[in-house]
Amino acid sequence: MKVVVLLVAIIVGAYQCHGSEHGANFQVFPLRMKTGLGGHYIPEVSCKSWRLGVEAHNVIDWKSIPEECVGYIGNYLLGDQYRSDSKTVCREAYLYAKTLNITAKDIWVFDIDETTLSNLEYYADHGFGVEPYNETAFNEWVNLGEAPALPESLKLYNKLVGLGVKIVFLTGRPLNQETVTTANLKHAGYHTWLKLIVKNTTLYSGTTAVTYKSAERKKLEEEGYNIIGNIGDQWSDLLGTNTGNRTFKLPDPMYYIS
Ligand SMILES: [Mg+2]
Repeated sequence: MKVVVLLVAIIVGAYQCHGSEHGANFQVFPLRMKTGLGGHYIPEVSCKSWRLGVEAHNVIDWKSIPEECVGYIGNYLLGDQYRSDSKTVCREAYLYAKTLNITAKDIWVFDIDETTLSNLEYYADHGFGVEPYNETAFNEWVNLGEAPALPESLKLYNKLVGLGVKIVFLTGRPLNQETVTTANLKHAGYHTWLKLIVKNTTLYSGTTAVTYKSAERKKLEEEGYNIIGNIGDQWSDLLGTNTGNRTFKLPDPMYYIS
């Protein structure tokens, strides 16, 4: 019986992919999103599309992940794919950096949360981004200073330091988290950096991350530094002005910061 079903599936699939001989009814992509062969709803199909939309910055200004995608996003983050996607980004960043003649003024900008340090442990306890952002609970987690390094980012960091590139951490974390962030970075294996820029929430009150980060990168360039690379998990790390010679987007399907 299973063999018969499989044969029918192959024949139907082949027909839909190739259409008739003369092009009539030609259907390369069967438009049956969200349904499987038997017409069953498959949330994973639309969740994959949603994640692609997020990473490509087509889906913007979202407040939380779709309810039906909690399982999919959790599996993505805790399984191999998140690590693999991160590795691809970091590898490309290193291959690029390796081609450059590094000078004393060359810097690489790293965002911190979900770029340098991982808050996955916190988000795993909060539905991987399905729960609305809870500032109090998240700050309690940050203040523990126990966030581990993202392994692929730490590898990239070490390779860049090895090439003689100076590191600047540019984060939306506020001034009152500077001490715990410094300790957390060192504990996670980030042993050296040129600057750690935290957000002066008085100076940047009410501004977006794009505005804040652009202004701080501009200051760096005015000080004579050359931003050869810039890596972050949010598009707001990479858009705006003074973005650097190349930008690298790490995956993050858990939250959106504008
Ligand atoms: Mg981040």
